[in-house]
Amino acid sequence: MATKNFNLTRLQGCKTYTEIIYTQVWSRVEAYQTEYPDQETFIMAFGDTTQPLPSTAGKALVDSAYDLINPETYTGYEDVTGNPGLRQAICTHYYQEHLDVELSSEEVFISDGAQSVSSNIQELFAHDSKIAIPDPAYPSFVEGTLLADRPLIYLPCDEHNNFVPNLPNEPVDLIYLCFPNNPTGAVATLEQLQVFVEYARTHKAVIIYDAVYSLFITTPNIPRSIYEVESAKECAIEISSFSKWASFTGLRVGWVVVPEALTIDNTVPGELNDLWRIRHGIKFWGTANIAQKGAIAALSPAGQRECRDIVRFYLQNARLLQEGLEAVGLKCFGAIDSPFVWVKAPTGWDSWQFFDHLLQATGIVGVPGCIFGQLGEGYLRLSALGHRQSIEGALNRLRQCTVIGE
Ligand code: PLP
Repeated sequence: MATKNFNLTRLQGCKTYTEIIYTQVWSRVEAYQTEYPDQETFIMAFGDTTQPLPSTAGKALVDSAYDLINPETYTGYEDVTGNPGLRQAICTHYYQEHLDVELSSEEVFISDGAQSVSSNIQELFAHDSKIAIPDPAYPSFVEGTLLADRPLIYLPCDEHNNFVPNLPNEPVDLIYLCFPNNPTGAVATLEQLQVFVEYARTHKAVIIYDAVYSLFITTPNIPRSIYEVESAKECAIEISSFSKWASFTGLRVGWVVVPEALTIDNTVPGELNDLWRIRHGIKFWGTANIAQKGAIAALSPAGQRECRDIVRFYLQNARLLQEGLEAVGLKCFGAIDSPFVWVKAPTGWDSWQFFDHLLQATGIVGVPGCIFGQLGEGYLRLSALGHRQSIEGALNRLRQCTVIGE
């Protein structure tokens, strides 16, 4: 007799984070639009991108599509760990040229974005591994942990620690970190990351580092990769993606680095890398070969120039938004090194009250911070990955308000 997987019923209200946004947030937006049909709404709830693909990547996609209809150039299955040219390009043009980090292409596994691998990577570890996750956090870290039925503790992040967690105060096996952070937009200094690396090496724990927004970092001396910290290869796995800085959200190309030097209890160097290759080969046979060619082009000199323009555009959105919100007396975090503005609710308001008030007063739609964890209560996340027109419309509405709250 088949029985359902009860872990799938453990999510908040039996819904994923994306479903919660679509149902709870969207139902309020629809009610507002019905009540005020003449008022514009400015949707800043979704972390999806709006800028088009870099033309260099688009051209590579077209060329590789033509290759597929030509019998002379047709290719089928890609190497399951990813196109070797792409794996090498990530090592050379992303890690080596920008970050001075040396990796071998065997340490890089191509994925269909960061989302799937951010949960799946847990399969490299024993079922009873205890997992530490910052609160608030990108929800799939928690969702993936609940689904895998692994023990979980939270690492509080608030204004007192600048949204960078302290070390766990009980033993853990895996620690999720994500900088620049979604939802808070916070970044961590080299010294702050060093503390985690030392902890992980001492306790034979592993850091799972989500660096999806790393190319949004503009503040000098802020690490873009955990591997900028000495010895991090011995204790950290890094997940990244072309989604946000190269407009690949629909194309689905990301990667995970499982360093040869990574070891835990009872393993030798290279063993975890080898085990991930086996897991990859059993459960994942690579992302679309065309998309991988596009990603190689995004890492070419011309592609990188275009990607920098995309990132600059979103960061400008974020700054405009932050200035407009601060002008009406709201306290904002993030925005400088990430496409997210983490806005504090006026005193006495919870996330949903703030959400409703901002919607009514300005038409701006964010995501209530409480959706990202208990300590997100009292905040709202706004995404600056939208169109400039929408940001400017929102700013105009904000200018018509003198002060929000109190
Ligand atoms: N990690 C973080 C922190 C994210 O914000 C997102 C998407 O919003 C992802 C991972 C998933 O990205 P991808 O499109 O590469 O799957």
